[in-house]
Amino acid sequence: MFNIILFGPPGSGKGTQSKNLVIKYGLKHLSTGDLLRSEIALQTPLGIEAKNFIDKGQLVPDEVVIGMISTALETNPDVAGFLFDGFPRTDAQAEALDKLLHLKKTSIAVMLALDVSENELIKRLLHRGKSSGRSDDVDETIIRSRIHEYENKTKPVADYYRRFNKVVHIKGEGSVHEIFEELCNEIDNRKKKVSVNQPSSINQSLY
Ligand code: ADP
Repeated sequence: MFNIILFGPPGSGKGTQSKNLVIKYGLKHLSTGDLLRSEIALQTPLGIEAKNFIDKGQLVPDEVVIGMISTALETNPDVAGFLFDGFPRTDAQAEALDKLLHLKKTSIAVMLALDVSENELIKRLLHRGKSSGRSDDVDETIIRSRIHEYENKTKPVADYYRRFNKVVHIKGEGSVHEIFEELCNEIDNRKKKVSVNQPSSINQSLY
């Protein structure tokens, strides 16, 4: 399995790039944001609980998203790999993800981190809010809370993977196509390294 984390602040283009990457590499896209929004649309108890946090621009509690990811991993046993988008967003989520992947005898191959300036993020999210129907994209105060949550709780997650030399930074400003090409180059390089240095998937484990 070849598993990727697409990392970056809200509005950095993770969703847009994920859609193209999963097609090219035959990966299963797991976006906790999308999973939560479908729970909200179905008005499940989980969705109703999550909405309270999302509408304030806060992170949903770890156990809720970890449970969702655990189910998604179990229900997709035969995929070529996963592309995680918007997960993990806290150190606790990163540790839980490693344990879950370890049980499947696999691990994260690379974290691709999209770098975008704060002014550009706010501009993009307000623009998206005009048509996305997402209540968390309309109000600048909520957008700033999401960026604040990212800076405080999510950015440190990159340090966790940096210890294992798994983080690659990519400039997230430019055309969608240019950024996609950069991401593909990094993935192709990592895939080559994995096949040369680590013939067994067990060896890719963080443990
Ligand atoms: P964006 O990255 O543009 O903020 P997402 O769709 O990834 O959009 O997430 C929307 C909201 O869903 C977040 O602001 C947060 O409240 C919640 N959420 C998504 N993923 C997670 C996660 N892994 N942990 C906690 N909350 C999450």
